[in-house]
Amino acid sequence: MSSKRLTGLHPSTIAAQAAGQTDDSSGGVVPPIHPATTFARGEDYVPLVDGNVYSRSHSPNGRMVEAVLAELEGAADAMVFPSGMAAVAAVFRTLRASDTVLVQSQIYWGTTAWIRDFCTRRGITLIEVEASDTSAFTTACETLKPALAWIETPSNPWLRVIDISACAQAVHASGGLLVADMTTSTPVLTRAISFGADIVMHSATKALNGHSDVLAGALACRDADAPIWRAIRADRDMAGAVLGPFEAWLLLRGMRTVSLRVERMSQNAQTLATYLKDHPRVEAVLYPGLSDHPGHALAMRQMQGGFGPLLSFIVKDGAPAALNAAGRLQLVHRATSLGGVESLVEHRHSIEPHTGIPEGLLRLSVGIEDPGDLIEDLGQALGQ
Ligand code: PLP
Repeated sequence: MSSKRLTGLHPSTIAAQAAGQTDDSSGGVVPPIHPATTFARGEDYVPLVDGNVYSRSHSPNGRMVEAVLAELEGAADAMVFPSGMAAVAAVFRTLRASDTVLVQSQIYWGTTAWIRDFCTRRGITLIEVEASDTSAFTTACETLKPALAWIETPSNPWLRVIDISACAQAVHASGGLLVADMTTSTPVLTRAISFGADIVMHSATKALNGHSDVLAGALACRDADAPIWRAIRADRDMAGAVLGPFEAWLLLRGMRTVSLRVERMSQNAQTLATYLKDHPRVEAVLYPGLSDHPGHALAMRQMQGGFGPLLSFIVKDGAPAALNAAGRLQLVHRATSLGGVESLVEHRHSIEPHTGIPEGLLRLSVGIEDPGDLIEDLGQALGQ
């Protein structure tokens, strides 16, 4: 396997070429899968290949994905995990019992639920704040001095847009670090480290892989020597939350088309948001690409080339009308998750009834299908 050092290339080139990784042993233009769990040493007891001893700590396929992700993010280093939640947990496990953390309210409910439970068990003080309110976030940093602040932008499923630079400045001024869950943006649209985030997190299950066939998570960092990054790496190596070689290989294959897919999904989502906004059976559309979205101006500054695949809309007349519309969809699958090439719909109130989600809210993950076909399906489901 060889990896040429590429510099100054655009994300679509880095991804399409898998950062120059090929297979020297066969001449293949795609890298092979390395299933070995252990690697041989020579007669002098030195590993035959530098850095390859045991696959809990050394995964050639994991390293290939990490190299591409680090390039895409403009990061110093990256690590992959067996799920997005494993990546979330890896960050929070570095905290001490006396620490305070600031977490954006109304983000992906699984993240919130796990963090609440973890902080309670560990004696960590957890404060939740509406981070799209930059002054509330800044005041919370000044008064609480959190060791770590966690944001997600655009948020799932509310599509709130968070000012990464302002949040980074606020938490840095009080001595803490900023971690940004960028699952719904991907580095194609926003490179959070360039806006001041210290660590970027992804559910790679979503648009990074993009084909709804790999469960994976990822972190990328600004400073590979930072104590938190060393602690995360040490914990992954010893506690063993590693991505298997087959999943890593599939993820790398999916990532080769991430730019194309995210651009097309964003175009389709913008088209659907515009269509739904004027639909008589729709009360509201939450999508940062719409000019009347409260985060639109910020999203224009922070997101390049589109506003992502995720949009939510509220059907008039509450849960029965929303469930009825979801039930009538022919093309869009009724399934959870987001960021895949196929469009998905979810009635979030059925999943998280106690988090304030409007009963009529349907979350759409817009795929790469023909936008006319998607509009026709939504139109017949809502009843024109
Ligand atoms: N972060 C966000 C924004 C998500 O939407 C999800 C999953 O839906 C996760 C994290 C968790 O990722 P995973 O399902 O890969 O564990």
